[in-house]
Amino acid sequence: MDEFDLIARYFAEFPTDHTVVEGIGDDAAVLRPPPEQFLVMTTDTLIAGVHFPPDEQPASVAHKVLHANLSDIAAMAATPLWTTLALSMPEVDTDWLDAFTVELKNQCRHHKVSLIGGDTTQGKLVLTLTLIGSINADSVSLRRGARPGDDLYFSGDAGSAAVGHHLWQGGDLELSDSERAQCEQRYHRPTARLALGQALGGIASAMLDCSDGLLADLSHLTQASAVKAVVNLEQIPSIGFVRQCQLADRLGWITWGDDYELIFTAPREQRESVEQIARECTTQVTRIGTITDGEGIDLLDSTGQSVEHKQGGYRHFQQAN
Ligand code: ADP
Ligand code: MG
Repeated sequence: MDEFDLIARYFAEFPTDHTVVEGIGDDAAVLRPPPEQFLVMTTDTLIAGVHFPPDEQPASVAHKVLHANLSDIAAMAATPLWTTLALSMPEVDTDWLDAFTVELKNQCRHHKVSLIGGDTTQGKLVLTLTLIGSINADSVSLRRGARPGDDLYFSGDAGSAAVGHHLWQGGDLELSDSERAQCEQRYHRPTARLALGQALGGIASAMLDCSDGLLADLSHLTQASAVKAVVNLEQIPSIGFVRQCQLADRLGWITWGDDYELIFTAPREQRESVEQIARECTTQVTRIGTITDGEGIDLLDSTGQSVEHKQGGYRHFQQAN
């Protein structure tokens, strides 16, 4: 099977809608953008051995590559529309492609995303997915909008993906069955907080998605907004296992990354709206601190003492020292 057979067999039959004038098959896709909307565009690459274990289930890879991008779209409060996929693989592995495309198609259908093109090459297993969404001009949520006095929120819980990764690596941890299931789910099949992100458009003063670790990503928000975040460690939502760990271990789990949760701020007077949105989206949302004048992140323990912390999180090109 060559490149063109592969495209015809696996990618030509993805569902599209009326916004796609020409999809897969021509030199480029022709699209009909929603009138009066801004377009929002993001790309994420997943490399086997870096972003996922080489023997990860192909369905999980499909899920993860789409949701990593959906999470960025959610963090802008936008609605996803179209995606392209650049796929590089060492050889045509039909079992892998079958499982991968079935799940990608399911997720695209579920989230009303049309696959409109891509590129197929031979090389290491690498997937680059680009996602385009749309949004009302007045609903865009940026990193730079946080103001002193705002509340600071986190969706879902921090550290479950890190625990899921550790389990996958063969780590043995004392977890309840439900904790184990949750951590495996959040690591292998993270679901982006799309409904929550969209509902927070115009309500959140600043928002970003948490993929590099809670403190690392929060520092991007505080820098962009030129503010300080005061975070109460005890309020950071985590599974019981993580909460019971010694401080250093607990911080390790919380800051590891791959959470695909949303970090956002909102003025105090929006508290009721935020709570109502969380209920409507059936997504846990926790107030973990406040925004003040200053810079950086102050992490406080239950007695109000500052806790020393490193930001943690994954950085490409970081020197090991
Ligand atoms: P070109 O040579 O013009 O770049 P290709 O021969 O690479 O086009 O691709 C043919 C068609 O198949 C194009 O519409 C392209 O967008 C689409 N395509 C190629 N690879 C993929 C893929 N992995 N997923 C989805 N669409 C793809
Ligand atoms: Mg090409």
